[in-house]
Amino acid sequence: MKVLVINSGSSSIKYQLFDMGDESVLCSGLVERIGEEVGSLTHKIAPDTDAADKLALEQPIPDHEVGMTLAIDLICGERGVVKDKSEIAAIGHRIVHGGEKLHQPTLVDDSVVEELEKIIPLAPLHNPGHLAGISVARSLFPDVPQVVVMDTAYHQTLPPEAYMYALPYELYDELRIRRYGFHGTSHCYVAKEAARVVGKSFEEFNVITVHLGNGCSMTATKNGKAVDTSMGITPLEGLVMGTRSGDVDPALHALLARTKNMTSEDVDRMLNKESGLKGLCGMNDMRDIHAAIAKGDEKAKLALDVQTYRNRKYIGSFMAVLGTVDAIVFTAGIGENDNIVRRESVKGLECFGVKIDEEINAQRASEPLKISTDDSSVAVWVIPTNEELAIARETKDVLNG
Ligand code: AMP
Repeated sequence: MKVLVINSGSSSIKYQLFDMGDESVLCSGLVERIGEEVGSLTHKIAPDTDAADKLALEQPIPDHEVGMTLAIDLICGERGVVKDKSEIAAIGHRIVHGGEKLHQPTLVDDSVVEELEKIIPLAPLHNPGHLAGISVARSLFPDVPQVVVMDTAYHQTLPPEAYMYALPYELYDELRIRRYGFHGTSHCYVAKEAARVVGKSFEEFNVITVHLGNGCSMTATKNGKAVDTSMGITPLEGLVMGTRSGDVDPALHALLARTKNMTSEDVDRMLNKESGLKGLCGMNDMRDIHAAIAKGDEKAKLALDVQTYRNRKYIGSFMAVLGTVDAIVFTAGIGENDNIVRRESVKGLECFGVKIDEEINAQRASEPLKISTDDSSVAVWVIPTNEELAIARETKDVLNG
């Protein structure tokens, strides 16, 4: 069975085609800068093998339909890894926000699309792009079942004390204002992987998963169920991210309205797009930040310190939530690659039994790597996330009933 996984953003479409027989990636690609003067498409054939081959093109890509059509031509055309569209058994779509109603992986029909439209205000940066992707995929593949897999799903097990805000209760009743949590597909995948490599049953496993990429979030999983997470009603709350602030005093909106005449949209944009690492030092890529620190850039150092301090604070609070912690897991772009961020994020937690081995921590690995010392009472792991494979598995499971 071949499953195509699509992660459609506001100006990009990421895709991977899986052969679910052996879960290998047949091809993958990224369409970028949709709607800009010049867009780009990078398409890789058998990306994880020695026979990997890459195609790249640059041309105007005015909308998602053009972007997806270009990608489908490469997947199924003359040089494609499948000869006909009909070989694709199902399409799985990554959805950032499913609200309170959509949490199980679900077959797409008009009512699902309507529900996703309704919750656009909860994820204005993400859900419109997903809807564009679904709409184009449905028109290009009218007979292929499409499944939505929600990033909010894994956190549906949070208890009320973790998901409720201390706000007037009517806001929850009327508008479902509560904490939802995000990156759930990633947290679920690496938490299960961690249980596997540690050799414990997931149902008895307590783990803190630290997803540090462009977006950053942390989840506490107790006995195989998510019990708390750093992100809230939108993917803005919690850790310091590339361009997102994470936690701020909620009085900030009113203060900036009074002192700088900013509208709530201005403040929202600032918190989502002009804050985080970028707000502090002008750069949102951790590799650039390290290069700047090496040249003596103090703001870059401050950005690193603010991010890693926040990580540490959350790890400590989630240790208190869990009581017993079997493992802490780092994942995603920064978490998998940046030994300095990992080291600084657990600095000072030795008194709680968290000790990492600096030499192992400095190693690069594409497989799960244990970076804690043998006498650390909490195992610390780096585990590459694979949200696309997790979505492909969920999609296959929905099809198989
Ligand atoms: P993701 O959202 O998981 O794709 O992560 C993207 C982010 O990971 C980038 O913005 C970088 O900040 C970070 N990143 C990627 N590669 C590295 C690396 N080798 N070292 C440090 N950070 C990295």
